[in-house]
Amino acid sequence: MKVLVINAGSSSLKYQLMDPDTREVLAKGLCERIGIDGHLKHTPTGKDVFDADVDLPDHDEAIQQVLALLTHNHYGVIKDINEIDAVGHRVVHGGEDFTHSVIIDRKVIKGIESCIPLAPLHNPANITGIKACEDVLPGKPMVAVFDTAFHQTIPPKGFMYALPYRYYTENKVRRYGFHGTSHNYVSQRAAAMCGRPLEELRLVSCHLGNGASTCAIKFGKSIDTSMGLTPTDGLPMGTRSGAIDPSIIEYIARVRGYSPERVENILNKESGMLGLSGVSSDFRDLEKAAAEGNERAQLAIDIFCYKVTKRIGSGAASMGGIDGVIFTAGVGENSPMIRARIMEDLGFLGLYMDPVKNNTREEAIVSRDDSPGYIFVVPTNEELMIALDTAKLVRGESV
Ligand code: AMP
Repeated sequence: MKVLVINAGSSSLKYQLMDPDTREVLAKGLCERIGIDGHLKHTPTGKDVFDADVDLPDHDEAIQQVLALLTHNHYGVIKDINEIDAVGHRVVHGGEDFTHSVIIDRKVIKGIESCIPLAPLHNPANITGIKACEDVLPGKPMVAVFDTAFHQTIPPKGFMYALPYRYYTENKVRRYGFHGTSHNYVSQRAAAMCGRPLEELRLVSCHLGNGASTCAIKFGKSIDTSMGLTPTDGLPMGTRSGAIDPSIIEYIARVRGYSPERVENILNKESGMLGLSGVSSDFRDLEKAAAEGNERAQLAIDIFCYKVTKRIGSGAASMGGIDGVIFTAGVGENSPMIRARIMEDLGFLGLYMDPVKNNTREEAIVSRDDSPGYIFVVPTNEELMIALDTAKLVRGESV
């Protein structure tokens, strides 16, 4: 089976053509600056890369160009677009309506539209991607895979905010959580790596990239996560503040004379590692600056690691124990130093890092052989998870 995985943003479109059965990636690529001018990078496996400015007035044209490259006689990997069996779409917000991936029909599109107020930047772009594929690949089965769906198993005591109840019933204010596809994938890998059923394991998954979240996964189900109504909650991130005293917002607005929108922008775009360090939102730059003696870069790293450590502790408390910690995404996969710092004080939970094994960027168990709990490094693969769900649903299996 061949599945085209689509991740549509407002002016970008990432894609991968893969076989979910063999897990082989046939081609991947990125369309950028859609609706502005257009750039397309197409990387077919084992063939020359196509990387050029291409006129991309809208998402329909971007998908057309992608299909033309996938079937191109030099850059192509398939002979005909009919070789594509199905399309899997990443959708950011599924609200409470979508508890797992679903085959896309009119009702599903309406459901995704009804979640637009919760994700005003992302869901419209995801719908644009779905509609563009409908136009260009009419009749092809399509599946929506939601970032929020994995967290729909969180019980009310984990997802409710202590606000007047009507904001939940009338305005859908609650914790939703994000990065669900990633947390789901890496937890399945972790169970396979240690050869134990996921249904027996209590895991804290740490998705640490430009956006960062932790997830307490008890016996295969998300029971708590650090991101909330929006992805601003929880850990400090590249440019996002993470959880702060909510009254800081009104305080800054008042003492600085800023509008709520401006404060919101500061919390999302000027805070986190960038705001603390004044150097960069990128952990590679922070590590370099800290090594050169930049104290604020060091402080930013210290704060980040400390907050992740605390989240692992709270995940363990929420599950009544912990069998393993998983590190994934840009920082989690690539920075042995940050992983070591986060785990430094967690021996009391039976989690002991092996410093030699930790020196890896590959999928590996990096805890000591005598450590009661596991520490895993798992490169995330959201595209594969989307392709797997798509294949299952198209074959009539449940996900
Ligand atoms: P992601 O959002 O998952 O793509 O992750 C992006 C983040 O991963 C950026 O902050 C990068 O600096 C960070 N990252 C990537 N490679 C490394 C590395 N070798 N060491 C530290 N951080 C890294």
